[in-house]
Amino acid sequence: MKLERLNLVENNALINGAWTQEASGRVFPVLNPADGTLLTEVADCGAVEAKAAVDAANKAFPLWSGKLHKERAQLLRRWFDLLMVHREDLARLISSEQGKCMAESRGEVDYGAAYVEWFAEEAKRDYGDVIPEPLKDRKVIVIRQPVGVVACITPWNFPIAMIARKIAPALAAGCTVVCKPAEDTPLSSLAIAKLAEEAGIPPGVINIVPASRQRAAEVVDVWLADGRVRKLTFTGSTPVGKHLARESANTLKRLSMELGGNAPFIVFDDADLDAAVEGALVAKFRNSGQTCVCANRLLVQDGVYDAFAAKLALAVAKLKVAPATDPDAEQGPLINEKAIAKVEDHVQDAVSKGAKVLLGGKRHALGGNFFEPTVLIDVTTEMKLCSEETFGPLAPLFRFKTEAEAVALANDTPFGLAAYFYSKDLGRVWRVAEELQVGMVGINEGRISTEVAPFGGIKESGYGREGSKYGMEDYQYIKYLCMGGLGDPTN
Ligand code: NAP
Repeated sequence: MKLERLNLVENNALINGAWTQEASGRVFPVLNPADGTLLTEVADCGAVEAKAAVDAANKAFPLWSGKLHKERAQLLRRWFDLLMVHREDLARLISSEQGKCMAESRGEVDYGAAYVEWFAEEAKRDYGDVIPEPLKDRKVIVIRQPVGVVACITPWNFPIAMIARKIAPALAAGCTVVCKPAEDTPLSSLAIAKLAEEAGIPPGVINIVPASRQRAAEVVDVWLADGRVRKLTFTGSTPVGKHLARESANTLKRLSMELGGNAPFIVFDDADLDAAVEGALVAKFRNSGQTCVCANRLLVQDGVYDAFAAKLALAVAKLKVAPATDPDAEQGPLINEKAIAKVEDHVQDAVSKGAKVLLGGKRHALGGNFFEPTVLIDVTTEMKLCSEETFGPLAPLFRFKTEAEAVALANDTPFGLAAYFYSKDLGRVWRVAEELQVGMVGINEGRISTEVAPFGGIKESGYGREGSKYGMEDYQYIKYLCMGGLGDPTN
């Protein structure tokens, strides 16, 4: 890992402004998924550190929430500036521990930092309401207040963006946070926390408690049980999200759940096929297929099925698979062996049920966690890849005949995060956009994530929204103030 600022690599937890070892010095390894080499070791925290983090966040809450909105905005803005100053180092950290190519890592730093900048601005516009009074001697006012200590639990696929998307609105609203990053990617989140500290965000406002997979539940269970933690915001898989939601019931925490998806990507006969291929490359192959909004099922209308399949295979064949150290790399390794095994299983299951491999289909000659970008045709709904999130570089092409069939297929899943479709027919654009049961729709567009828009799902993809003018609400209560006795007693 060649960094300009080597001390951006932190090995300890951040608790109450101090870089803290696990009580008995326990550590876990952080590996480079491209070659399995050891990057460093990080404190493997448990219940002791989890509780200390809540103590710190709870202590810091009155001070932080008591600051002027403008003061919080300025500190967040300074944090954003430092993220930008250290953009290249942060990108290198992401590529080292997560594997994505440098161009994507730089994009992720920009994307994550954009949430910090956005919420620095939103903090100043945290307006309440004055409601027309029902009686002459009253005033009815609504104010917004921070919920308190927030627990943030994040996955490995966007190690900076996912945590920034939670910490930034929480801090803007006046909350303090305790965070557990994923085992595979703790370094990026520890580095951005260090920059937050340097920006002047006070001790205890941001606490980061890294843990190995083995101890993740031990840390989070402390937060689930602690009534001082008033909100839990989680990005990850649906089964873990459901478990956390159930356990949060004991203390009735507020919840945001950004869970798994099974995005359909529909190509209608009237689509611009070149644009659809370009969109599919982004929606399917970004981060080697490891994004929650990844196109999981490509539904292609009969009339353009063969042409689209041929064009897509041609474009995918050009993607350069290489470790992030190669400046031309476009497709990195998957995160670990379990991820590779899942893609392999989905390909084998599909082929055994009649799918044909148009491109790729097996582990890459580079070895390790690399898998060939793959296109499958003649895919049907009986195959595992139809109902499960593949989370890898596999594009399966389903065939459909009518618009109604496409919409029914698209909605035939318990998930509802993102969907994409390509069509030039204006009537169809409105009909299909309204009928798709998801939180986000890309219309003739494969890249939809931006800090200015509300990111989130419906159905078993969860609830809550990140980013946009709606994003701070998830971290606030509204309080109604009824002021009486305002009438003129002489009247
Ligand atoms: P995951 O296994 O659910 O893990 C997510 C986080 O939860 C990690 O920090 C993990 O720690 C922790 N965790 C796992 N089991 C836990 C338990 N029993 N108690 C407490 N914490 C626990 O998900 P993943 O495989 O890392 O991430 C991929 C999933 O995230 C996909 O389903 C993807 O669609 C989803 N995702 C959704 C969004 C969205 O915005 N909707 C965005 C990105 C990803 P360890 O890493 O240490 O196991």
